[in-house]
Formats: sequence, C-alpha cells, structure tokens
Amino acid sequence: MKKIAKIILCGGLILFAIPVFYLLFVIWVESSYEPIATQEGVLIDAARISSAEDMRVVSLSKNREEVISSIQQALVLAKESNRSITIGGARHSMGGQTLLDKSIHIDMDGFSDMNMEGPRTLRVQSGVRWRDVVAFLHERDLSVSVMQTNHDFSVGGSISVNAHGWQHGKGPIASTVQAFDMIRADGSVVHCSRTENSELFALALGGYGLFGVILDVWLDVVPNERLQSVHRRVDLDDFVQEWLTLANDENTQMLYGRLRIVPYRLFEDVLITGYTPIELDKPFPKLGTVPLDGLKRAVFRGSEDNSFGKRLRWSLESMIGGEASGIHLRSILQNEPASTYANRNPAKTDVLHEYFVPADQLVDFVRDSAQVISSCDVDLLNVTIRSVQKDVDTVLRYANEDVFALVLLFTYDVHPQADELMRSCTVRLVDKVLEHRGTFYLPYRTHPTLVQFQQAYPKHKEFWTQKQKYDPQGIFESQFSRYYFP
Ligand SMILES: Cc1cc2nc3c(=O)[nH]c(=O)nc-3n(C[C@H](O)[C@H](O)[C@H](O)COP(=O)(O)OP(=O)(O)OC[C@H]3O[C@@H](n4cnc5c(N)ncnc54)[C@H](O)[C@@H]3O)c2cc1C
Repeated sequence: MKKIAKIILCGGLILFAIPVFYLLFVIWVESSYEPIATQEGVLIDAARISSAEDMRVVSLSKNREEVISSIQQALVLAKESNRSITIGGARHSMGGQTLLDKSIHIDMDGFSDMNMEGPRTLRVQSGVRWRDVVAFLHERDLSVSVMQTNHDFSVGGSISVNAHGWQHGKGPIASTVQAFDMIRADGSVVHCSRTENSELFALALGGYGLFGVILDVWLDVVPNERLQSVHRRVDLDDFVQEWLTLANDENTQMLYGRLRIVPYRLFEDVLITGYTPIELDKPFPKLGTVPLDGLKRAVFRGSEDNSFGKRLRWSLESMIGGEASGIHLRSILQNEPASTYANRNPAKTDVLHEYFVPADQLVDFVRDSAQVISSCDVDLLNVTIRSVQKDVDTVLRYANEDVFALVLLFTYDVHPQADELMRSCTVRLVDKVLEHRGTFYLPYRTHPTLVQFQQAYPKHKEFWTQKQKYDPQGIFESQFSRYYFP
C-alpha cells in the first residue's frame, strides 16, 4: 500500500515538475534575448517588416496653436517639395499604414493633452495613448467606453482604423466618437461630427489618415465598475448558443472567447469569459495591472512553436479561466500593455489577422480556417473571439452587420520567405472569410490581394472618390494606400 502511495506521489511530483521546468526554461531563453535594435533614419511599424527611409519627422507638443502651425507648414513644404504626408500615432499598425519613403511624417506622440468636458465627455488630443486616458479616467471613477485589448495605442490611430474591443454590446470605436477637429489637405481646420461636416466624419473615422490630421477628439466615456469573471468551456458547435446566453444577460459588460490552438485538436472547443458587475463595500483600488505578469507571459510565450506548450497553456487557462479571471476593475482590465505578451526575440515577429463574420457563419468559418491553418506551415499563437455591433458611422467599414471578430496571432521569422508563406496562407483565409459573407481588418499586413480588398470593402470606390474631392493632390498617402488604392 505504502509502495503504491509512493509511486503516486512520485508520479504527481513528476507531472508537476515537468511544466514548472518547462516554464523556467522559457523564462531563461527569453532572458537571453538582446533588446530589439532600431536603425537610424529608418522608421518601422509594429511587425518590423515594413519600413521607410528618408522620412522627415515633425514632432509635436501639447500646444494646439503651435501644432496647427507646424502641420500647416508641413503641408506647404509637402506641396513645394512634392512629398507626401504620413501620420503616425503609436505605429502599431503592421503594413505601412504610417510609412512611405521620403514622406513628411507627422508624429502625433507629443500632442497628448486631455480634459473632461461634461460628466461623460472626454476631450483628448489625438496623440494621447490609452494608458494615459485610462489613468486619467480612473482618477474620476470613469473608464473608456470602447478600446482595444491593450493600452499602448494612440486615440488618433485607434479611431483612424476604427478599432473595436471586447466591451460587450458595442459597435466599433467610431460609435463612441462625438466629434473631432481635423486639418485638411488645404490647411483649413474643420470640426466634424454627425451633424457638422458629417461626410468627412464618416470618411476619416476608419480612414487611415488619408483625409487629414485629426487633432482634438471628443469621446463618450462610461462609469468605472468592479467586474467579476464567469467562464464556460464549450465545444465549438455549442459556442454561439452559449455566447448568446451570456450576451443576452444585460449585466454582461465585457465578453470574449478563446479557441483551443493545440494543433491536433485545433479549434475543437472554446473558453468563454464574461464579466458582470459586482458591488463590494470597499473603495476602488489604485490603478494597476492584472497581476502575475511574468508567469502569464511564460505560459503564453511557452506555447510558441511547441505543442506541449500549447497544451499546457490550454489546460491552465481552462482550469483557471483565462489570465484575468476573478474580480477586477474595468479600468484595470483595460490597463494591459501589449508588452505583457509581445515577442522579444529579435529574429521573430508576431503578426495579427482579424476576420469578421456574421453569427450564422461563425462555426463553418472557424472549421474552414482550421483546415487552412493546419495545411499552412505557420505557428498560431492565439485566437480570441469578440462580438462587434453593426457599424453605422463609417464609410470604409468592416462590420456591415452585427459580427463576430476572430483575432488570430501568428509568430514567424523576420524574413521575406516567412512573410511570403504568411501571405499565401492569408490569401486562403481571406478567400474563406469572403465565402462566409465576412470581411477582414486593415491595420495589419497588406497580404490580402487588391481584389479581395475590393470585395470585402464594397464602398472602396465611394471612399476613393471622396478622397479626390478632399485631397485632390493626394498629399496624405502611405504604403498601405498605394497598395489598396493604386
Ligand atoms: C498587440 C496589438 C493588439 C491589438 N489589438 C487590437 C484590438 O484588440 N482591437 C482592434 O481593433 N485593433 C487591435 N490592434 C490593431 C490596432 O488597433 C491598430 O494597429 C491601431 O492603429 C493602433 O493604434 P496606433 O496609435 O498604433 O496607430 P498607428 O499605427 O500609428 O496609425 C494607424 C493609422 O491611423 C492613422 N493615424 C494615426 N494618428 C492619426 C491622426 N491623429 N490623424 C489622422 N490619422 C491618424 C495613421 O496614418 C495610420 O493610417 C492591435 C494591434 C496590436 C499590435
């Protein structure tokens, strides 16, 4: 009897020790990476694949009058010297949306002031990052209505791609923009809202910086809340039904799903995490991040190119209920830096894809994409699912109806061959999403073809006709716009 107990104990210890050693190994490997180097005179974006040379960078301050004057001078210079103007926020887009050789680059970073204008209206300068907005609102028991999962992005960049988040029951961020000021190609400053310059409002939101430089932005904000997570693990076939049960609960504030990425059981089941408000008789804590960053990171990065790591992560997440389970403030959930999970290996890059499909197509699309991904030689690191309500505000829209968003994270070598491999896989995934009445998101690699872009964005012609009207000389350009609007 004692012998059996010893064997069980030893077995248990070994089972416990293997993952612990594996995670320690991941931490050790990661600690050996040199910091990712930058090259003087060359601007890059988040994937470190697109770059541009000889860009003249215009830096900005918080002084609005000075900023307007600097941008107007840049416009004059651009016209005189036959250069284009590119605009960059945090430059986390991945396909040259902020880049073009020899362009004059307006770096929005320093333009970052903000103040409340009414109980639920925040005015920000467009270069401000969400991390500062989240902190500013937290002090006032408020929080952002719609933003991405991470807090590193600028407000200007977020509204120019019309970002979405995992805040439940919301459309893309455009739905929370009340108004903005913008400098047009002719140097004039205009105020745009749903009632004033409404055409430009709809074009510049999700307009990838092609209609002018967005200055101040007026955003809806919402009360901060203490939220408690609930979790469900379901088979893919039951996903939509289970999601709707949580989604139809009017208390649900945040909601996302995560697909199993273990290769031989790819996308078989989904872990759904929802958050509902909970009242506790104590004051809100100071703003921090969801704890356990180092361990979360090791579990996440340990799933890179390694089936055991992927299995381990899925088991831990299924047991614990995702990395942010428990009770957290809404503002703390929004205070997640991208660096928590970002690749640190200089030889590798993480690249996102995003596909949008209506609910009745989701399961079939997920099955089709599992087949495509299994037959591509690519390493899939993560897939989350969120819902986005129909976009009624923008022209170049990806949510033509209520949709599910699938956010896929791949990792691969920073090498043209690896990027080409990803391109061919992406083209096949986009074919599938188009078959399922879906669309894809534009701030990532420009791997989908021009024809696929035109099919996914049927209003592309209207968008470009208006571009000729508002910017007849084509001053605002980027590698991205040259690719999709040749
Ligand atoms: C790790 C990671 C996680 C992400 N998660 C999400 C997510 O959860 N949801 C989501 O929707 N997206 C997500 N994204 C995509 C992200 O929202 C976009 O890449 C967004 O553009 C990032 O903001 P940015 O400030 O870096 O924009 P930039 O890359 O700097 O700019 C994006 C576009 O906006 C234009 N632009 C920037 N500022 C201005 C301005 N002031 N006036 C006019 N045009 C301007 C630029 O010219 C460019 O075309 C994620 C990206 C990464 C890298």
